[in-house]
Amino acid sequence: QVETLKAKLLEQTQEISRLRSELGGTDAEKHRDLLAAENERLRQEMKVCEGELRELKQQQQAPCRACAHLQENIELQEQLSQLQQELEETRAKLAELDLEVQQKTNRLAEVELRLKDSLAERAEEEERLSRRLRDSQETIASLRSQPQHIKYIIKTVEVESAKAKQALCESQSRNQYLQEQVGMQRQVLKEMEQQLQSSQKTAAQLRAQIMMYEAELERAHGQMLEEMQAMEEEKDRAIEEAFSRAQVEMKAVHENLAGVRTNLLTLQPALRTLTHDYNSLKRQVRDFPLLLQEALRSARAEISQAIEEVHSTNRELLRKYRRELQLRKKCHNELVRLKGNIRVFGRVRPITKEDGEGPEAANAVTFDADDDAILHLLHKGKQVSFELDKVFPPQASQEEVFEEVQALVTSCIDGYNVCIFAYGQTGAGKTYTMEGTASNPGINQRALQLLFSEVRGKAADWDYAISVSAAEIYNEALRDLLGKEPQEKLEIKLCPDGSGQLYVPGLTEFRVQSVEDINKVFEFGHVNRVTECTNLNEHSSRSH
Ligand code: ADP
Ligand code: MG
Repeated sequence: QVETLKAKLLEQTQEISRLRSELGGTDAEKHRDLLAAENERLRQEMKVCEGELRELKQQQQAPCRACAHLQENIELQEQLSQLQQELEETRAKLAELDLEVQQKTNRLAEVELRLKDSLAERAEEEERLSRRLRDSQETIASLRSQPQHIKYIIKTVEVESAKAKQALCESQSRNQYLQEQVGMQRQVLKEMEQQLQSSQKTAAQLRAQIMMYEAELERAHGQMLEEMQAMEEEKDRAIEEAFSRAQVEMKAVHENLAGVRTNLLTLQPALRTLTHDYNSLKRQVRDFPLLLQEALRSARAEISQAIEEVHSTNRELLRKYRRELQLRKKCHNELVRLKGNIRVFGRVRPITKEDGEGPEAANAVTFDADDDAILHLLHKGKQVSFELDKVFPPQASQEEVFEEVQALVTSCIDGYNVCIFAYGQTGAGKTYTMEGTASNPGINQRALQLLFSEVRGKAADWDYAISVSAAEIYNEALRDLLGKEPQEKLEIKLCPDGSGQLYVPGLTEFRVQSVEDINKVFEFGHVNRVTECTNLNEHSSRSH
């Protein structure tokens, strides 16, 4: 029995735990917990009973005559049966409770199902109601234009369904809101009416003003009309006056005309004499060609005679000119004899910024007031004087310097060899003197201008060929600046004709017709200069 009870108890405990896991903390669970506690207590009791039973069994096996135990045994058996009954009862109660739990679980599931259903139903209902509400709102909106009918329609809706009552309620609240709105609108309307009244008042004021202006305008119009009238009268008066004045003038013109007529009568005899004169002139003109031919013939004879005379004079002049040339050549020779074949001029340039300041930069050159060929130099505290052909002071202009060498250009045209060159240390003014600046050219440009102008002057009688060549002596090597290969080194040789002149074989020569031509050639030559090529120093004294 105890064994089966144990098994059942275990089963029930398991069942209880299963139920507990299935259900949450409900009333049934609390009840079950209580039952479990009871169960536990019973088990304890049963254990005690078992112990007692075992003792009793042992006592039964032993011979017991006193039979005090028998009594006790009977009592215990009674107790046991009582306990068994109690156990039975408890089991029945447990089964009952189990059933109850089962039922409750079933009911719970049912209730859940129903809840779900009712939730779906409610959603459906809500949906339906909202649809209905929308419909009702639309109806109300359409009916709002006829507010007197709203009540009737609301009543109809009421009758239609109990559920619509709710919608009606909402509609009523909406109606309320709309009425409020209408009230508000009415307020606005009232305000606007007030505004309208005030603007009407202003309009009336403005109208009165306009009336006033119109009256003024009327008045001005009347005034203007009066003024116009007055002006019209004045105009008439002026026209009358002008008319009378014109009549007077007309009379005077008429009188003048009469005078002119008498004049015309006196002019007629004059006209007659003029016609007479004209006729005689006409006759003279007719005879004029004959006279002219005669005159032309005599003039031609005179002119040819004059030309003959000029011709002979010309020939005479040419002869004189040739003699003059000879003379000039002689003069040149004389000049060379007197002044020397080589002339040396000194030119002192003005002090420039580059000369610096202080005692190191003191001026060491002075001039002789009486002799323009003397130059004094202060050298180591002592004055040294030099005598040259001429000394140009700093203030001497390019023209003045050129004037001194100008005669050489003429000599050149006459067939002499001429050389002009500048010598001095770097910065002394060689380039300035020879080339000068574009605005103030030096000897080169001026000499070439003169050369070409002289040649042009003699072009009628003489043919001149001018050619240029450019060479550079740099570091004792001679190079052709106009050649195709400027790097090639040339040589200076003595002319083989025994004239004692020097020449450079292979030096390039260009025929030129004007100063511009020469300048172009020089530009080309400049590019080939060593100082240009190496770009070392534009004014290098190693390049000549
Ligand atoms: P060089 O050719 O002898 O080295 P430059 O002719 O270049 O010297 O002259 C040096 C500087 O002095 C240049 O700036 C030049 O313009 C100036 N100069 C030379 N001579 C005169 C002069 N007579 N008047 C004004 N400036 C001069
Ligand atoms: Mg120079």
